[in-house]
Amino acid sequence: MVLTAPPAEVAIIGGGLAGLTLALALHDLNIPSTVYEARSADFDQGGGIMLSPNALRVLDSVGVYKRVRDNSLQFDILTFKDGQDQTTDVYYFGSEELYGYHAIRIMRKELLDEMRAMVRERNIPIHFDSKLTAITSDGPDKVEFTFADGRVASAPLVIGADGIHSTVRGTFLPEVKPIYAGFMGINSVVQRSQLRIPEGYSLPATVLAKTGAFLLVPQKPDGSELFIGSQRRFPALDAAGWEALRKDKQKLYDMLQENKSDWPDIVQSALEATPVDRMGFWAFHGIPPLASWLSESKRIILVGDAAHAIPPTAGQGANQAFEDVRALATLLSKLSPEVPLDKAAAQWQTYRQARVKKVLDLTNQMNAKRLPESERAKMPPGAIWSDQSLTRGEGGELRWLYDPDLAQEAEKWVEELKQAANP
Ligand SMILES: Cc1cc2nc3c(=O)[nH]c(=O)nc-3n(C[C@H](O)[C@H](O)[C@H](O)COP(=O)(O)OP(=O)(O)OC[C@H]3O[C@@H](n4cnc5c(N)ncnc54)[C@H](O)[C@@H]3O)c2cc1C
Repeated sequence: MVLTAPPAEVAIIGGGLAGLTLALALHDLNIPSTVYEARSADFDQGGGIMLSPNALRVLDSVGVYKRVRDNSLQFDILTFKDGQDQTTDVYYFGSEELYGYHAIRIMRKELLDEMRAMVRERNIPIHFDSKLTAITSDGPDKVEFTFADGRVASAPLVIGADGIHSTVRGTFLPEVKPIYAGFMGINSVVQRSQLRIPEGYSLPATVLAKTGAFLLVPQKPDGSELFIGSQRRFPALDAAGWEALRKDKQKLYDMLQENKSDWPDIVQSALEATPVDRMGFWAFHGIPPLASWLSESKRIILVGDAAHAIPPTAGQGANQAFEDVRALATLLSKLSPEVPLDKAAAQWQTYRQARVKKVLDLTNQMNAKRLPESERAKMPPGAIWSDQSLTRGEGGELRWLYDPDLAQEAEKWVEELKQAANP
């Protein structure tokens, strides 16, 4: 049976960024939920993420933004620099004036810790060490599922917020597997004091030179540390191969140091300061566009990376996950006989899939921009991102990405559905 009222209970599989934000948004709307997270409470994936106004508006709406803002580094633009330290393009990641929020860079752990604290304060049940292994029945009134330790649970609605390798997705789209995008980022962390930064040089920056692109991204609230690294094409490896590479920090270090003399001095100073023991990499994976983000019964719904893992070059993976859950929570709270879940979810999915497609197009243009010079030269017009706003560097070009308020969008769909039900 299709839901025609807000669900009495929602099971959220995955207590990552999407899952926890959804739990907080549902709580504000008086919809009880339970979060099941495979990892233990003290697991730290490490690293930092950049969040743009479209996501910060969502985090603000659930009370997270105010609690994390002071633990983050605020910035507005990402500059593209050439080998002579000249700015060639400006990519807006945020702007209080244009979009209501500066962009932030925050350590993932800080963000997750704060969200978990808020979940606990609201007495939302969260079960760690709870790895979902199977969904044993889907509908008509409830979904039943099991965990690795043999526990069984059920709920009228299940949200799969369990990331790119989603087990929930596998229950109704078993053929979908993550695909390697053919690129990897090799990275490390250096101290700002170790860099030779030319006067007036704006950070964060992407340096484009003969060999490709090099990222210099300040992190920690005072910007004293920089995440640094380069993006390159790299052949696919099997799981054991990626694992071996992750452990081989010297090899990653040597790869990062290749063609050192081709980079401008600021990058060379970063390479000289790079500690071998902090080397890491990120093999960019995505998933193909899914035919549906909902199971046939409409009682299982995918959000975040489970629905649309996006390679990272435009920095929108988590940002899009926040958009998904903000709109979905609002819709669930408005379900009624005039606004049944199947119709509401269809509106949500159509809107979200179109937006993710646009983000993917932007991501491909950004990937092209970071290729070595010789490859960039072969690209057709429009394949490489460049700032096309009327006044270069004015930032308005990305309004489509940063302006939407997803709660308001959902309210609009609800009104449309009501009008369609009562012509
Ligand atoms: C190095 C790196 C840097 C990134 N930087 C950015 C950035 O700057 N900006 C940006 O927007 N995005 C960034 N991303 C992408 C972003 O991290 C993801 O898009 C985002 O985390 C997706 O959130 P999610 O909640 O959907 O999935 P996840 O964050 O993957 O969370 C899924 C959760 O589900 C749990 N889980 C998995 N399987 C099960 C199961 N069977 N049962 C129960 N629980 C399960 C996992 O343990 C995890 O906690 C970055 C990613 C990486 C790897």
